[in-house]
Amino acid sequence: MSSGTPQSPGTPFPGSAPSSASTGQQTATVLVVEDEPTIATAIAQRLSAEGWRVEVARDGLSGVDAAARLRPDLVVLDVMLPGIDGLEVTRRIQAEQPVPILMLTARDDETDMLVGLGVGADDYMTKPFSMRELVARIKALLRRVDRAAQAAAATPADPPMIMGDVTVDRAQRRVYRGGDEVHLTPTEFELLVMLAGSPKTVLTRERLLAEVWDWADASGTRTVDSHIKALRRKLGPDLIRTVHGVGYAFEPPAL
Ligand code: CA
Repeated sequence: MSSGTPQSPGTPFPGSAPSSASTGQQTATVLVVEDEPTIATAIAQRLSAEGWRVEVARDGLSGVDAAARLRPDLVVLDVMLPGIDGLEVTRRIQAEQPVPILMLTARDDETDMLVGLGVGADDYMTKPFSMRELVARIKALLRRVDRAAQAAAATPADPPMIMGDVTVDRAQRRVYRGGDEVHLTPTEFELLVMLAGSPKTVLTRERLLAEVWDWADASGTRTVDSHIKALRRKLGPDLIRTVHGVGYAFEPPAL
């Protein structure tokens, strides 16, 4: 993930390519999908000034095409787009390759709606937002991806976690339930590993946010909820218990 040149297309976490010289953040490629020209230009200028390679797409289909062509390290995605909307863009991009997506919404209630749907975005920001905050969140997301890639490279022999009919293969970053592979986004995978690593233990939203997202911001707890929802949808409703007002606990399935 450390260079803009994918070493093995289609393999987003190349365990055989540990980054050494670069932290990944300076050379990262960011795809911005935004139809409002002033916002798109402002974001592109600011991100370029941070040293990232930036490409802008102005509608949903171009965004999907650009993601397939560029294999960006991160996507900043407006939810309201001409053609296909940000939800569909997220589905299509994530089906091709897991990539962190920071979604831009017009209103807080729109964010709530998206969180409720459990779409596969990694973080959400409501317009208007400060460019400073946008940059901080992008850095946090890129740090996390980099860390995950390094962890995967450093510990290739991590044994699979086997809990009932659930298997989490950390070395291969694959998850299975009842023998079938379940495709998770990078964030969903990290969240599952974190929860499954302490079974039957309540982890607070704040702790999950700090550890998985590297972003300690209270408003981000809704992002945690949305990812829990996505995990339940993909893995079944029985694995993660909600402890109201506190957080979540992993419940190993019965054998
Ligand atoms: Ca828009």
